Amino acid sequence: MKKWNLIIDVGLCHDCNDCFLADKDEFVGNDFPPYSAAQPWSGHRWMNIERKERGQYPLVQVAYLPMPCMHCDHAPCLTPDGAVYKREDGLVIIDPVKAKGREDIVESCPYGAIYWNEEASLPQKCTGCVHLLEEGWSETRCSQVCPTGAIRLVLADDTEMARIIAAEGLEPFRADLGTKPRVLYKNLYRWDKVFVAASVAYEDTDECAENAQVRVAEGGTTVGEGATNNYGEFTVDRLEPDGRYEVSVTAAGYKPYTVEVTLEKSLNLGLILLQKA
Ligand code: SF4
Ligand code: SF4
Repeated sequence: MKKWNLIIDVGLCHDCNDCFLADKDEFVGNDFPPYSAAQPWSGHRWMNIERKERGQYPLVQVAYLPMPCMHCDHAPCLTPDGAVYKREDGLVIIDPVKAKGREDIVESCPYGAIYWNEEASLPQKCTGCVHLLEEGWSETRCSQVCPTGAIRLVLADDTEMARIIAAEGLEPFRADLGTKPRVLYKNLYRWDKVFVAASVAYEDTDECAENAQVRVAEGGTTVGEGATNNYGEFTVDRLEPDGRYEVSVTAAGYKPYTVEVTLEKSLNLGLILLQKA
């Protein structure tokens, strides 16, 4: 059985908010029974783009994480009476009739994807644009408008999806919650991993140290490698947060530089001056 999945590339999202606005255009003021009642004019972010800054000036990276409902396979929001139910095609829907008055449903989502519509007395969220898919659409409104191709809608059975996940290195957000989301992310490291960075120069010449070799080790095992660019800068990314690391910088003709750091968050070590050997 084929099911719907959204694949979101964190590395391609530029925070243009086209997806957010397309969602508004589709749902604000529009009822799509039996799947959704109109989204209110303000207060809801069915496609919610979170923002995170990593590092310190001038070695800073910003990541954007578009977060609709994850359409979880193990969804804690489901209710036995069908007010929130999962379809065979994978989508999780809040029934706008059965869920009336059920403000408690808002709290059931660990991702904060459900919003309360005070006027309609309804919990509401992303429907996966199910009303359009049933009309034969092969895109959601948000995937259709994304100018960088950061959002892709994929219809695939579990075997094919497992192959895509492995081939593209896709990950769920907050896998620790055990909810098995059908929204999967590419380049999620830009959100949930940390980096160490620095600028490297030669002390004797004051020149940028281009192509110096960088090694990051944890307990003696190499967990990251890199080299400085023509500005003498390096960034070694995809490191686990809160790890204790040894960062070494080497360049021919200069003494090796080593420092130990605990990366509670991404860290710019600042300027490293290599001394002549
Ligand atoms: S993200 Fe939240 S609302 Fe969506 S299916 Fe999962 S638990 Fe339910
Ligand atoms: S899939 Fe449809 S309902 Fe969900 S966030 Fe995208 S546009 Fe909105």
